[in-house]
Amino acid sequence: MKLQQTQPLQVLQSVFGYDDFRFNQSAIVQSVLDGKDTVVLMPTGGGKSLCYQVPALCMEGVAVVVSPLIALMKDQVDSLRQSGVSAAYLNSSLSSYEQSVIIQQLKNNELKLLYLAPERLVGSEDSFFKFLSTIPVCLFAIDEAHCISQWGHDFRPEYRILDKLKIHFPTKPVIALTATADGETKRDIIDKLHLDNPTVFENSFNRPNIQYHVKPKQRHYPDLLAYLKKHAKDSGIIYCLSRNGTENLAADLARDGISAMAYHAGLDSLTRQERQELFLRDEIRVIVATVAFGMGINKSNVRFVIHADLPKNIEGYYQETGRAGRDGLPSEVVLYYSYGDAIKLKSFAEVEGNAEQTKILTDKLQQMVAFCETRQCRRQFLLQYFGEEAPDFCGNCDTCLNKPQLVDATITAQKILSTVARVKEQFGLNYIVDVIKGSNSEKIWAEHKLLSVYGIGKDRPKGEWTHYANELVYGGYLLKDANHYNVLRLTEKGKEVLFKSAKAMLPTPIEVEQPTTNEPVIYQEHPYEETLFELLKEQRNLLAKVQNVPAYLIFSDSSLLDLATYLPLNTIDLAKMSGFGAFKVEKYGAAFLNVVQTYCQQKQLVTRVELKAPKRERKQGSNEKDNDSKRISFDMWNEGKSVAEIATARGFTTSTIEGHLAFYVGSGELQLSELVSAEKQALIEAALAQWDKISMKSLKESLPEDISYGEIKLVLSVVKG
Ligand code: ADP
Ligand code: ZN
Repeated sequence: MKLQQTQPLQVLQSVFGYDDFRFNQSAIVQSVLDGKDTVVLMPTGGGKSLCYQVPALCMEGVAVVVSPLIALMKDQVDSLRQSGVSAAYLNSSLSSYEQSVIIQQLKNNELKLLYLAPERLVGSEDSFFKFLSTIPVCLFAIDEAHCISQWGHDFRPEYRILDKLKIHFPTKPVIALTATADGETKRDIIDKLHLDNPTVFENSFNRPNIQYHVKPKQRHYPDLLAYLKKHAKDSGIIYCLSRNGTENLAADLARDGISAMAYHAGLDSLTRQERQELFLRDEIRVIVATVAFGMGINKSNVRFVIHADLPKNIEGYYQETGRAGRDGLPSEVVLYYSYGDAIKLKSFAEVEGNAEQTKILTDKLQQMVAFCETRQCRRQFLLQYFGEEAPDFCGNCDTCLNKPQLVDATITAQKILSTVARVKEQFGLNYIVDVIKGSNSEKIWAEHKLLSVYGIGKDRPKGEWTHYANELVYGGYLLKDANHYNVLRLTEKGKEVLFKSAKAMLPTPIEVEQPTTNEPVIYQEHPYEETLFELLKEQRNLLAKVQNVPAYLIFSDSSLLDLATYLPLNTIDLAKMSGFGAFKVEKYGAAFLNVVQTYCQQKQLVTRVELKAPKRERKQGSNEKDNDSKRISFDMWNEGKSVAEIATARGFTTSTIEGHLAFYVGSGELQLSELVSAEKQALIEAALAQWDKISMKSLKESLPEDISYGEIKLVLSVVKG
């Protein structure tokens, strides 16, 4: 295959089998081809690898990729070889003979990509740098570039050797890539690598295909088990804090018939490797792990990530949840939260003799707690944490899907707020509730038993008071002082309610029910053949087993989904499917065509390849910033397209599009009546008025079937405002 001087798009299509670059991949590739230093900040699954792999195949010489993760290197190299690209890696896992073979290949200019552990560059008198300068190198890519910075959360001293890169190669383009970097880290990367006026590409950190959930961690095992049974065909990761935790949970799950195994740093390396591979090959479905698991895992079809314990900070949480849905298909993440976990972690955050570090860690933990307790859109919370603007409503997280009904709870709020004031803002939430309930407990100070608020709330259950007190905290009427035994204090907003008769609108106590989504499980423009999809996966797994590689390296689920949707019956059509590059069509085409052909014959189906629209819009749609995405939907609406048409054209569900438009209804730029008929609107409003506490799901069920979740959300976006 002659590849030099080829165009990037041609390489993308013929080698990798993708129709189009995503979001700003094309500009990044061009920047590298122009010889410029380039910095890429892109979330996990965004497609960073292609940003240097494509240029490598367009340029003369070998691309040197520095990566800290041995497991990832092997994965990348295997994956490239699957596409017919000559690639290799050098790290401590190879024997010296194996290394010498690769050195020879480099001398012969036979490799297009060389993956390298940074320690390989460390050595007397920069010998490896010097060796590299004797062979034609086209570019340097620094993966996980945040590892070079002490500001990053994952500093690796070995990365400091890269300080010398520009001394030895002042004119070679360097591309630095990372999925997590705040402003400080980003500047540090540029500084430490001595990048020359680099072009910086920042993608949104939004992962639109991930649905966020936080659930109460209270007798949660049955809930977890039910979840795993419901997702019986999917694979996923469950994170626990401790090694014991992983062992116990894995054993419980295995006993209950779930294909699950534990993974943690206390296992010997052989066992770890074995379990990792079983998981990669879909031979075990669920891995129950400490955070030691996942660093190098590139598995693209992880459908869910569950946190059975609270993560220590948002950075870690974001990174761990980011391992779901790298293939772009809808995926879910669930965090089981209890405040008890936060207290446990707080003791871990104490760094002896280092008050400054302790404060940093405690603040980060506090943010994690705030994420769990927020009533705000979770996606918005995360994006704002990373310094990005985001809309109030994403339509794809538990808080957006379960917008609670707000009621006027001013009197209730005043009772709680005044109790807080009467005990001089010196007591925590449970104490306040006990006073309101008139508890006889010894704990209650004698003088507090004389207060007029003592026993003022005898008539209502304790749980309700706790609920409203918590809501006052979430709503910013009360502050839980984390630095002072979590005592409750009045905020300005709280004082307005207490002294100036401002209203307090609070959610009523409801069991948070997860709506069973009315959407198909997969974002699809067209329905697909489910049985065929399973047959294709079997075929893939078989090939993977024979070759002893992880299944997703052969084809991702989304590629197989394309086959099950468009039913290509010949090689030409097969090449139009996502992920089917020339080399793979040649190597595997027949095997998969055979499955599709047989299936179509049995079912008497014809090909649907003509339905396959150019995917440009869909791919961009999944990566652009949310704001732009909403705007695109709105613009299309203004051009006269219907919600269904926009959904089809953009490859989103109608509910997502309605979520986009809800924003403009909320802002007054769009009339609700244009989207929801007066009749439906009246029905929805009537239902809302009738129930003062109701979940989205029950609300939906109480309404005629032809009223969609999207329409309910649209009406809510007005009622809310
Ligand atoms: P990252 O390194 O940013 O986490 P990867 O480079 O592993 O992400 O890419 C994630 C997935 O997206 C991979 O399966 C990759 O093949 C796929 N991908 C990347 N770019 C494209 C594209 N332009 N079209 C289709 N799929 C792509
Ligand atoms: Zn949301």
